[in-house]
Amino acid sequence: MAKEGHKYIFVLGGVMSGVGKGVVTSSIGLLLQQKGYPVNLVKVDPYLNVDAGTMNPTEHGEVFVLRSGMETDQDMGNYERFLGRDLTNEDYMTSGMVYQSVISRERALEYDGKCVEAIPHVRDEILRRIEAASSYNGSRISVVEIGGTIGDFQNALFIEAARILKMKHPEDVLFVIVSYLPTPGTLGEMKTKPTQTAVRDLNSYGVQPDFIIARSKEPIDEKRKEKLAIWCNVSKDHIIAAPDIGSIYEAPLNFEKDKLGDAMLDALRLPEKKRASLAAWKKFALAAANTKIPEVSIAIVGKYFDTGDFVLSDAYLSVIEAIKFSAAKLNRHARITWVNSKDLERGAKVTAILGRFNGIIVPGGFGETGIEGKIKAIQFARVKKIPYFGLCYGMQLMVVEYARHVLGLSDANTTEIKKSTSDPVVDVMLEQKKHLADNKYGGTMRLGVYPAYLKKGTMARAAYKKELVEERHRHRYEINPAYVKHLEAAGLVFSGTSPDGVLMEIAELPRSVHPFMLGTQFHPEFHARPLSPHPLFTEFLRAAITRKRKK
Ligand code: GLN
Repeated sequence: MAKEGHKYIFVLGGVMSGVGKGVVTSSIGLLLQQKGYPVNLVKVDPYLNVDAGTMNPTEHGEVFVLRSGMETDQDMGNYERFLGRDLTNEDYMTSGMVYQSVISRERALEYDGKCVEAIPHVRDEILRRIEAASSYNGSRISVVEIGGTIGDFQNALFIEAARILKMKHPEDVLFVIVSYLPTPGTLGEMKTKPTQTAVRDLNSYGVQPDFIIARSKEPIDEKRKEKLAIWCNVSKDHIIAAPDIGSIYEAPLNFEKDKLGDAMLDALRLPEKKRASLAAWKKFALAAANTKIPEVSIAIVGKYFDTGDFVLSDAYLSVIEAIKFSAAKLNRHARITWVNSKDLERGAKVTAILGRFNGIIVPGGFGETGIEGKIKAIQFARVKKIPYFGLCYGMQLMVVEYARHVLGLSDANTTEIKKSTSDPVVDVMLEQKKHLADNKYGGTMRLGVYPAYLKKGTMARAAYKKELVEERHRHRYEINPAYVKHLEAAGLVFSGTSPDGVLMEIAELPRSVHPFMLGTQFHPEFHARPLSPHPLFTEFLRAAITRKRKK
């Protein structure tokens, strides 16, 4: 069932969600990798969706697209950014995926007429997948994050699978619980009880944690560490402080200071190969957290912000991180402001809202709401020569805006919004028509990596410094080839196309006309990494910094 001698670290959440299991998992991955161990990271999402592609970003956050095209949870983005490499389909699993495999096998009579049950069949499918990930990636240590919180009905089978692994290989499996320690304002004292309860819950599954990552506002003190150690049966030096920090990228540095990596290797009976080499990471993390350097202000005009009374920026996580990486490289602090495109539609003054920014981004999106607001923002950026970067929908709408206001095609639109438009400058891709007609929404978009050729003498080519690039996609619509010549004649440059020249991958205005007006049909944000920022984000920010200087 498990590879002989392979090591597994399971990361589970206690008390409540949203306290940074993903960052802990990514940090453990980075530390062990930098100590010389090949690591693979697996995200387990216990919901029944087969992938994250059909989920609303306001509810679930960004859909992160792998190189292969698989639509996954945003944590996968953090894993890629921390490890600095692409992940594969094997690294992601949902209950939906697991059940789908079991049910198809049952339909194919592969269970020899047996009664197919959660245990052992579903549990074993989970274990098979965990093993497939480490075999595929050739790793020595797997770090597996189980989504949700201990006690959720839907992650119980995953915890059970992990328990079996530990029972069979007691020396090769560790459990880490990431738990929250609140300091209620009325008491002014950090409380350990919720964590004790979470550990007791985990014990009821037959699982004892080996490490507790104590998430809290201030670092947990010795007294409370002792208390947790006694009540939770975890050795005190395995209780690791994880206070709130300025940037998630500092987490691995703090963990290394607390010797988390070494303690884990000890617990797994693996020799420490070398000290983690984190110098380059540290340099980046310090730059990213430095708010004292000069600022560059960027507006992100989107719509997936509101959940109840709260504003969540999770839907655009990779975009935010991509901006931070390029800003750190240029020694600037990026101040990012959310502008709800619906507000731009409700008669609010565009100049008053957008005039003060050094750069404007319209990120990816779907459907009708907020569209006219985004188009207003794009027009404003074009006319006022404010650096503009459009990502996917942001590129399509940049072309709609150009067709309407420069070509004079006042009804120009994308057929995603207006089927009957007299000028469908953005239209549904041929192969997508059938999917939509058959209501086949899951996993059917144009997804994952495709190549693009870059035209000589363009901004795109100058930024990438090469002719052929590969970027990740997630869309059903495209620039209508019937309008390309017309748009080019009016000054728009398609600087990147598919190798056959049919799909427009990048649109831009010449530098002589506008300091930076560029849109990509793909999502460059998925390839931005802390230590290798994305060239297009860097060029966009460079233009924004220049604008700031001139103002
Ligand atoms: N809604 C557009 C399409 O499907 C853009 C998608 C996106 O921004 N990811 O083509």
